[in-house]
Amino acid sequence: MHSITEGPVAALAAAVSAVLDDDFTPLCDDDIAEAMRIVERVNRRLAAVSTRLIVQATERAMPRRAGCTSTASYLQDVLRLSRSDATGRVTAAKKLGTWHDVGGHPIPVDLPATSTAQQSGDISPEHARKIAAVMHDVPAGIPRALRDDAEKILAECAKEGTPEDVQKAGERLLTYLDPDGKLTDDRDRARRRAFRIGPQGPDLMSPVSGCIDPTARALLDALLAKQAKPGMNNPDDPNPADPADAATKDVRTAAQRNHDALKRICEIALESGESGTHRGLPVTAIITMTLEQLEEAAGVATTATGGRIPVPDALKMAEKTRPWLAIFDHAGRPLHLGRTSRLASGEQRLVLIPFDRGCTKPRCDKPPSLCAVHHPEEWADDGKTDIENETFVCDGCHALITKTETGWKTIKAGNDHEFPGRTLWIAPKHIDPEQKPRINHCHHPEELLDQANESADDDP
Ligand SMILES: [Zn+2]
Repeated sequence: MHSITEGPVAALAAAVSAVLDDDFTPLCDDDIAEAMRIVERVNRRLAAVSTRLIVQATERAMPRRAGCTSTASYLQDVLRLSRSDATGRVTAAKKLGTWHDVGGHPIPVDLPATSTAQQSGDISPEHARKIAAVMHDVPAGIPRALRDDAEKILAECAKEGTPEDVQKAGERLLTYLDPDGKLTDDRDRARRRAFRIGPQGPDLMSPVSGCIDPTARALLDALLAKQAKPGMNNPDDPNPADPADAATKDVRTAAQRNHDALKRICEIALESGESGTHRGLPVTAIITMTLEQLEEAAGVATTATGGRIPVPDALKMAEKTRPWLAIFDHAGRPLHLGRTSRLASGEQRLVLIPFDRGCTKPRCDKPPSLCAVHHPEEWADDGKTDIENETFVCDGCHALITKTETGWKTIKAGNDHEFPGRTLWIAPKHIDPEQKPRINHCHHPEELLDQANESADDDP
C-alpha cells in the first residue's frame, strides 16, 4: 500500500514538472525529434492509465455516490471536460479497459489487440477510436475468430499508419468480410438505426444525421412521394391556384422540398390528435413568449422541448396547429397565474414551462418535456412569491433529491432573493462542503449576461 502523495502518480507529476523546467535550447534537432517521439509515446500510455482510472471509478460506483447519472457526467463534474470528451473517454474505457464481473473476475477486453497497443504507447486514443468505429460496423454474422483477426489487423495497421489509414484499411476490411452485404442482418440494422438532431446553432438551424431502417425508409418514401412533389408545400407559393403551374414555378432543390414536406408531415401528425398526451398535456408544440414579443411579433420564443423559434414563425405555426401559447407579462410573470387559486395539473405545467424552462438542478440542460413537477420543501425565507410551490426536475435529477445525508435538497427562493420563485439546490456535504444554494442558469442564459453586464458596469 502506498499513499497517492508518495506513489508512482506523484512521481509522474514530479517528472513532468522537471521536464517542464528543463531547457531544450542546447538540444540538437535529432534530440528534439526524439524527445517529441518519447513524449507522444508517454502521452498515449497515459491515455491507458486514464482508462484504468475510469474503470476503477465506475466499478466503485463513485459516479452514483457523487449523485451523477453516468460516468461521463461524473468526469464532466470532476475534470471539467466537455460532454463529447467525457463520453469519448468512457467509450474508450468500455472497449479497452479490463472490467470485472460481480464475482470480481476479469472480463475479456472487448478490443484486446488495440488495448495492448495503446498500453505500449504504439497507438493514440484517436487510432483506437477509428478501430472501435470499424469494429462496430463488423456484421454480427461474422464468426468470433474472424472478428478477432480483423481487430488484430487494424491494431497492426494503426501501429504503422495514421488514424486515417486505419479508417481506409477498415473500409477495405469490411468489404472483404462481407462483399455483397449478405451477412448484414436485422441485428446489424437494429444496432445501427439512428436519427440524431444536433444542437440548434446561433442561426436557430439544427443539423440532422443518422441511418434509418428499411421500414422507416419505406414509410417516409411513401409520404415524401406526395408531400415533396414540386409545387407541394412550397412556402413561396403556399396556396397555388393551379397545381401544374405551381410545379413548374417551383425552384426549390429536392433537399429543400424534402425538408418542407417533413414539416408538413409533422403538422399532419400533430393535427390528427393521434399523438395523445405526454405528462398530462396534449402532444403539441408548446410555445412561450412575452406580451412584448407577441405585440411586436418579433424576437425568439422558446418551446417546451427546449428549442428556439422566431416569434413570427411561431405565430404562423399557431394559426395552423394550435399549439399552447403561454404569454408572460413584462416582469416575466405568467399573465393568468392567480395568487391563491390551485391550477389543474396541465395548467401547472404550462406555467412552469416558461418559468423554469427545464430541469432546475444546476447545470442540467433537460427541457420541460423530460421533466416532472416536484414540490420543494419550503421557502428560503418568509416572503412567498406568487409562483406556486412547484418546480421542474428531470427524472435523473429527481432521484437525487432525498432526505438522507447523501441527498440533494431543494427550496424556493423568497421575494428578497435576486431570483424570486426560482428553485435553489443544495448539494450534499460530500459534494459541496459549503452547502451553498445554487440556481440553474442553463435555461436562462440572459441572467448570466445580465450578471456579467452588471459586474462590468461596476468597474470604474
Ligand atoms: Zn435534471
